[in-house]
Amino acid sequence: MWYVNNKRAFWDTSAGQQILTLDLIFRKISDAQNLFVDQAAKHNIELFCPPGCGTCCHGFMPDVLPVEADYIAFFLLINQNNPGSGQEGHFSLLSPCPFYAADRPGANCRIYEARPLICRLFGFSGTKTKNGELVYRLCRHMPTPRGLPGRSPTQEALQGAIGALPPLMSDFAIEILAIDPSKASERKSLSEALPSALARISATLHYCPEEPNAA
Ligand code: SF4
Repeated sequence: MWYVNNKRAFWDTSAGQQILTLDLIFRKISDAQNLFVDQAAKHNIELFCPPGCGTCCHGFMPDVLPVEADYIAFFLLINQNNPGSGQEGHFSLLSPCPFYAADRPGANCRIYEARPLICRLFGFSGTKTKNGELVYRLCRHMPTPRGLPGRSPTQEALQGAIGALPPLMSDFAIEILAIDPSKASERKSLSEALPSALARISATLHYCPEEPNAA
């Protein structure tokens, strides 16, 4: 885990608690996605992004809630003096997202471990139709795997072909919103949200000194 042993007193603060809760949700998403992809693979249906693609980040700027910005700010602050953390180097002019690195195929996101919800779910989550049914739409850059019933299989088709469903985007959006409902209206673009998150987390960390012997 990228945050283990860092500023343990920080985890007792409200910001620290919210980051831990978000991390739990992110891990649930990852587990649900792995289960879906693994289950598909057992049925010889290979779901994957084209190697080194990163096209979904071209021209894209994610919107984030304050807690997602805090999570990224914490990641940046604890990695700022860590050569090899992926923060160094040049940023891309191809995307408004400040963390997209076009010159690193396969590792285009400089904050991959801390990326926001929308970036985690893209390509590997389901959405709901007007009837409340789950539908899984492949990203247009993903190849159509043999055995998958079309590029937008319904819940029923997925159950028949794979026996599992991808995580539902709206469910996790609601879970993250529930971390601090009072901030629901404060969703902003990542670039707009980050300066205040950096100031907030930096100030909190300042009052949470490293314990002796912390790794
Ligand atoms: S945060 Fe990372 S994954 Fe999300 S748009 Fe920016 S570069 Fe892409």
